[in-house]
Amino acid sequence: MIPGARLIILGRQGAGKGTQCVRLSRHYVVPHISTGDMLRAAVREGTELGMMAKEVMDAGGLVGDDIMIGIVDERLRADDARNRGYILDGFPRTVAQAEALDSITAERPLHAVIDLDVPREIVLERISSRRVCRDCGTNYTATGQDPSPWICDTCGGDVQQRDDDTPEAVNRRLDLYESQTTPLKRYYSADGRLVVVNGVGHPDHVFARLTSTVESHR
Ligand code: ADP
Repeated sequence: MIPGARLIILGRQGAGKGTQCVRLSRHYVVPHISTGDMLRAAVREGTELGMMAKEVMDAGGLVGDDIMIGIVDERLRADDARNRGYILDGFPRTVAQAEALDSITAERPLHAVIDLDVPREIVLERISSRRVCRDCGTNYTATGQDPSPWICDTCGGDVQQRDDDTPEAVNRRLDLYESQTTPLKRYYSADGRLVVVNGVGHPDHVFARLTSTVESHR
């Protein structure tokens, strides 16, 4: 395994993308850059961006392209991402974002764009049991026999359902995914950059599929 990789992981909400991205970032020793996590941090900090984003996120909408492109451009200029690489999670989500990313990364092109493929019926089931630490963002799965209050093993924060994991917001996000993000598959397959990885199965098996895909594309 050679450390360092520049990867995009696409995939429906609840496809297990976040957890796999964390594992990949440890494996390749690169930062995990999640636009959802960055926005949630801004919400917690109560910044102007956070206040604007919260409304959009809670309704299951998409934050404007210009704002998102600005955030990612700045983040990718940081030393860790420039020198080592990154796992980009949750960006791009629209063709306009993908086009902007191509110019941002013109000097250091992506190694692979991976579509972690999990059917809609399966992700709907997974999202309804998704719980997350309000403080550090660690993901958990509810079993129906969960502690209350539920304390995060990683940081001691409160584990709760996300405000945007209501059935209405989830359905809206999945619809937006089909209309705005699915076209990215055509965008990246047109020049052979897209690799589809089956995201169904035990997380360890999915991870092994992801790393063997990355190795064969570097
Ligand atoms: P999920 O994949 O579970 O929907 P994320 O954590 O990736 O969640 O993102 C949460 C929310 O943050 C999205 O529903 C959207 O409102 C906003 N968001 C994150 N990334 C982007 C992006 N690249 N463009 C627009 N909005 C975004």
